Amino acid sequence: MIEMKDVWKAYPNGVMAVNGINISIDKGEFVYIVGPSGAGKSTFVKLMYREVKPTKGTIHFNGTDITKLKNRQVPKLRRQIGVVFQDFKLLPKLTVYENIAFAQEVIEEHPRNIRTRVMEVLDLVKLQHKARSFPDELSGGEHQRVSIARSIVNNPSVVIADEPTGNLDPENAWSIMDIFEEINRSGTTVVMATHNKSIVNTMKRRVIAIEDGMIVRDELRGEYGYEA
Ligand code: ADP
Ligand code: ADP
Repeated sequence: MIEMKDVWKAYPNGVMAVNGINISIDKGEFVYIVGPSGAGKSTFVKLMYREVKPTKGTIHFNGTDITKLKNRQVPKLRRQIGVVFQDFKLLPKLTVYENIAFAQEVIEEHPRNIRTRVMEVLDLVKLQHKARSFPDELSGGEHQRVSIARSIVNNPSVVIADEPTGNLDPENAWSIMDIFEEINRSGTTVVMATHNKSIVNTMKRRVIAIEDGMIVRDELRGEYGYEA
């Protein structure tokens, strides 16, 4: 579903963030991306949703070479990809419900279907009772659960998360992981960059380690492999 061939990324300032990566991620996989700060993990995941364009190489997403997309074609790609960040990026003036519904309105979902779908994803993250709350009335963990609900509301085939538990205490981090597991069980591919050693070591999922922009390890039931 995601295939990178000989992918390189040099930023305009000359920093070589990704240096010749080859990787293939199948539908339904759950993949952790690990490695030291500055190793290129963020750049690697940003290449997958065309936030960053490679200097060289091809990136296929569900059969399409996304490096060749025109800018006007990028929104169509993004509809198939849910993205979750470390900082939550909810719109502060909209309620929880509206933040999620907004993503459905953007793709012009029929108004009749929006309410059902929004309540469905709020149920998945156990926050139906917060539908009318505003982001500044939520805890950090609740904030992140709303972000996750928003990322999946349009039924993406993959969810890409960059340090989604980075600002959370262990208990909240684990409830976030349970949600990603549930999302993955329903067939959605999950790709997650993380520094959370205990989560990676407990889950025993595929682990791709990146150092200096290169893949140095790729194991099907891997471990974190660094000091926390
Ligand atoms: P990680 O997510 O593993 O911390 P990043 O992909 O964020 O790694 O960064 C890899 C390297 O690229 C670092 O040296 C970083 O400073 C640099 N970098 C990241 N984003 C940019 C950017 N927009 N412009 C220039 N350099 C960048
Ligand atoms: P993340 O939070 O996903 O790791 P950031 O965009 O915050 O990624 O940046 C990661 C690293 O890249 C940091 O070290 C940051 O200083 C560097 N970086 C980000 N944007 C730029 C930029 N425009 N120019 C140079 N370095 C950058």
